Amino acid sequence: MDFELSEEQKMLQRTVRQFVDDEIMPHIAHWDRNGIFDEGIIPKLAALGLMGVCIPEKYGGSGMDYNALAIVCEELERGDTAFRTAVSVHTGLNCMTLLQWGSEAQKEKYLIPQAKGDKIGAFALTEPNAGSDVAAIETSAKKDGQHYVINGQKTWISLSDVAEHFIVFAYTDKSKGHHGISAFIVEREWEGFSSKSIKGKLGIRAGNTGELFFDNLKVLVENLLGEEGEGFKIAMSALDNGRFTVAAGAVGQIMACLEASIAYCKERETFGKAIGQHQLVQQMIAKMEAGLQMSRLLVYRAGELKNQGKRNTRETSLAKWQATDFANQAADDAVQIHGAYGFSDEYPVERYLRNSKAPVIYEGTREIHTIMQAEYVLEYRKDKPLNKMLPAWDE
Ligand SMILES: Cc1cc2nc3c(=O)[nH]c(=O)nc-3n(C[C@H](O)[C@H](O)[C@H](O)COP(=O)(O)OP(=O)(O)OC[C@H]3O[C@@H](n4cnc5c(N)ncnc54)[C@H](O)[C@@H]3O)c2cc1C
Repeated sequence: MDFELSEEQKMLQRTVRQFVDDEIMPHIAHWDRNGIFDEGIIPKLAALGLMGVCIPEKYGGSGMDYNALAIVCEELERGDTAFRTAVSVHTGLNCMTLLQWGSEAQKEKYLIPQAKGDKIGAFALTEPNAGSDVAAIETSAKKDGQHYVINGQKTWISLSDVAEHFIVFAYTDKSKGHHGISAFIVEREWEGFSSKSIKGKLGIRAGNTGELFFDNLKVLVENLLGEEGEGFKIAMSALDNGRFTVAAGAVGQIMACLEASIAYCKERETFGKAIGQHQLVQQMIAKMEAGLQMSRLLVYRAGELKNQGKRNTRETSLAKWQATDFANQAADDAVQIHGAYGFSDEYPVERYLRNSKAPVIYEGTREIHTIMQAEYVLEYRKDKPLNKMLPAWDE
């Protein structure tokens, strides 16, 4: 057990922190207020090797370990949830899924440009009538010679209008229930693909989220990811990686809440002393600190299991559930500490509160993770071996 970051990880942390301070902090209030997703940030992240930080160098990535991805997500979400979400779906849900399940040809064609950040990837599972209940998806893929023909609709897809490549889940055989779901690599440019942004979101307004439509979209058979019928397993293993990034981001969100609250505690005075001197305010600060430290330990434990090539569904679910709940509470308390000023966009904490809600919903709601944890403890749930594991980190 080693709780220290390596020199390389510390350098990465400093680099991302500086990037966030220089490139995100000065503009984020404007982007958030006006619903602008600044696409210019992506090539800058790519130039720093951050779009494929944990992808091996031979596949176009930076070759760092999986906890390096956690560090990137922590630091990005300290700036805003939108850019961490972009890395979550691009690296966590798409690139790492290609690394785990893709053929060499698929890695060559899709993973390499994505890990370099030249192309952006997203992940399309959720539908209007299917979120937590994945088996309720209705999108279908019918085989027709050398193609599958996909028809259906996805919703709440991050980077829907920005990504060039999507991992799309569809039924190839509905009669088999979730064993009949398959995963496909789909390109935006293909005929029959369209997307539309979702407006009026509570939070992550500086991010891009939307709907996808597939109208007789023809996908070559070589773009089937894994085997026919393996889509459900692929989706769940992708979520092991996506949830890890969401949990790490929540750590960054708590850091941001603490930073803003500490400054305000020292600046604002009531009853003749700084509000940080009042015990009930200290209680909120102490809860943030506890949430920060506990969440970070849970995240790094899950990352270490990934580094060792071990199954981590249980540990990642716990980290995601706890970290996002702590972050949501920290943001609520940060607004409380700021009093009426916390209710205004003059301070960033109202944005933190709005942003902290989606991570409690996406990639498994609070309720789904609660159920998972209870089922593991009660031994109603056991993880079966997967055909393909995420490769261990090769130093
Ligand atoms: C900003 C944002 C970005 C997103 N990005 C993506 C993306 O990139 N790709 C993608 O595929 N999806 C994405 N999603 C979708 C997200 O993953 C789903 O919203 C999530 O899985 C929940 O599904 P749902 O919204 O349909 O809620 P539902 O599944 O309809 O759940 C509604 C409520 O019922 C509860 N509930 C459901 N089943 C149970 C149960 N068995 N026991 C107890 N309670 C239950 C839930 O916890 C929730 O409180 C995104 C969502 C948001 C908000």
